[in-house]
Amino acid sequence: MKTAGVNHIDLKAALIDMDGVLYDSMRNHTAAWYRMATEMGIDCCREEFYLYEGMTGAATIDILFNRAYGHPATPDEARVLYARKAQYFAEQGKPVMMPDADRMLATLRDSGIMRVLVTGSGQQSILDRLDSDYPGIFLPGKRVTAHNVTHGKPNPEPYLKGMEMAGCAATECIVIENAPLGVQAGKAAGCFTVAVTTGPIPRERLVESGADIVYGSMTEFADALPHLISLFREND
Ligand code: MG
Repeated sequence: MKTAGVNHIDLKAALIDMDGVLYDSMRNHTAAWYRMATEMGIDCCREEFYLYEGMTGAATIDILFNRAYGHPATPDEARVLYARKAQYFAEQGKPVMMPDADRMLATLRDSGIMRVLVTGSGQQSILDRLDSDYPGIFLPGKRVTAHNVTHGKPNPEPYLKGMEMAGCAATECIVIENAPLGVQAGKAAGCFTVAVTTGPIPRERLVESGADIVYGSMTEFADALPHLISLFREND
């Protein structure tokens, strides 16, 4: 049995999102956004921030500002508010590593598939931990973060930059995502996009966003990955 869409992929690189994929960190992010916004008196609900995952911090702040005040934030306001959100995130302590993400990454490494980190995050408290939490997985020069992209997801730029770092074409990459905007970005970059449901976002939202395959958990994806890789390879 061949999975739909697998037959045009010559798999060489995996472009891997961070929050909600490598770390079970989205609840901390949404709590930090909710605290920052409600302290400003902006009406919002915590769940909405799950759907903004992947946008730049400035884009999320503009959604809040446009809704509350009818205009976007100034660059200075956005910088101050994003720093406050980052502080509230860091104050919650270390988010836990996503169970079985290490097993998923080891399968990619052992199969000779290059790993490139592709996150819209500029959250230094978590980026600093990648080398100790996932040693040897993301080599220097193989990390796309908020520091080297202009556009957040769903713009394809972060994944296009990841492909460039990998030195691979879209047909040689898979994207691994957990959020609708990230899935849209992966598809817009032309990549086969795997979605993993690791939070409250329902599977249907990921399908609607264009995911080629949706797994119900990281454990399920880690279990299935060796077979998925063999499907890609038998089509070489
Ligand atoms: Mg994510």
